[in-house]
Amino acid sequence: MAARVRALETILTRKGLIDSAAIDVIVDTYETKVGPRNGARVVARAWSDAEFADWLKRDATAAIASLGYTGRQGEHMQAVFNTDETHNLVVCTLCSCYPWSVLGLPPVWYKAPPYRSRAVIDPRGVLAEFGLKLADGKKIRVWDSTAELRYLVVPQRPSGTEGWSEERLADLVTRDSMIGTGVAREAL
Ligand code: FE
Repeated sequence: MAARVRALETILTRKGLIDSAAIDVIVDTYETKVGPRNGARVVARAWSDAEFADWLKRDATAAIASLGYTGRQGEHMQAVFNTDETHNLVVCTLCSCYPWSVLGLPPVWYKAPPYRSRAVIDPRGVLAEFGLKLADGKKIRVWDSTAELRYLVVPQRPSGTEGWSEERLADLVTRDSMIGTGVAREAL
């Protein structure tokens, strides 16, 4: 695959169809600037700032863009908040739509047919396989992403984190907790 990509890049560059400096910028963006760290900052802000949380609920695209996280596959965002009653889980049953601007590139399992079908048929079973056991009676709401709309799960804030800085809070927010296959880390 790597050799094939190199060959393609060489040919396209020679033909003047692409600019290798532009390719470097794109690769650097996905290696260093785009990733779940962005989403973790959004969640930490929502935990710390009720006004921001409210904005995130009403217009996630704008609230997220205000932190500088925009771009491909993040054009139309909706934030779904976990509560004591409801746990949210995100899937793309059709393919692999995923909010790149806040979570980076999707994990392999997210794109795999077993996850995509079973997340809607048996979400509780899927979560158990991720090691997540929800309280009895807690509802699971599954959100099916599309090319038009991507979801970000806002996990519940762990107890014992009163007064924590946003930076410290962000360390508790895992990628999986923002997909819904996990929850935020416990405060230690
Ligand atoms: Fe998709």
